[in-house]
Amino acid sequence: MSHDSNCIFCKIIKGEIPASKVYEDEKVLAFMDISQVTKGHTLIIPKAHQVDVFELDTDVASHLFSVVPKLAKALKATYKPEGLNIVNNNGDVAGQTVFHYHVHLIPRYGKGDGFG
Ligand code: 5GP
Ligand code: ZN
Repeated sequence: MSHDSNCIFCKIIKGEIPASKVYEDEKVLAFMDISQVTKGHTLIIPKAHQVDVFELDTDVASHLFSVVPKLAKALKATYKPEGLNIVNNNGDVAGQTVFHYHVHLIPRYGKGDGFG
């Protein structure tokens, strides 16, 4: 599996830096965002280093998005949000700050909850 030694998310995958993991299989990893925009803010990433949606392997994307509803249901059961945003930024201009593909799951508790 290809990793980038300078990539913070590859370091999390390799266990070189800690993360609060919520789901893992052979292709993807989900963990809590270090900066919780709202309670339960979670990221899901491919284990192979792929920068953005323009590089993302279709099979990996298919698998990753098959896990998203499972995570959403688990977050709903745990945190009892009223809603949930699913967000993916691609490119600096679009707000991407970590250049390893990731999807944000952001539970929503109300209009003034800190997101949007
Ligand atoms: P982006 O702005 O690229 O869509 O989102 C990157 C996200 O990665 C941010 O929400 C940021 O808080 C999160 N993040 C950055 N570094 C780390 C880290 O070392 N650990 C964790 N768990 N999240 C991180
Ligand atoms: Zn990476």
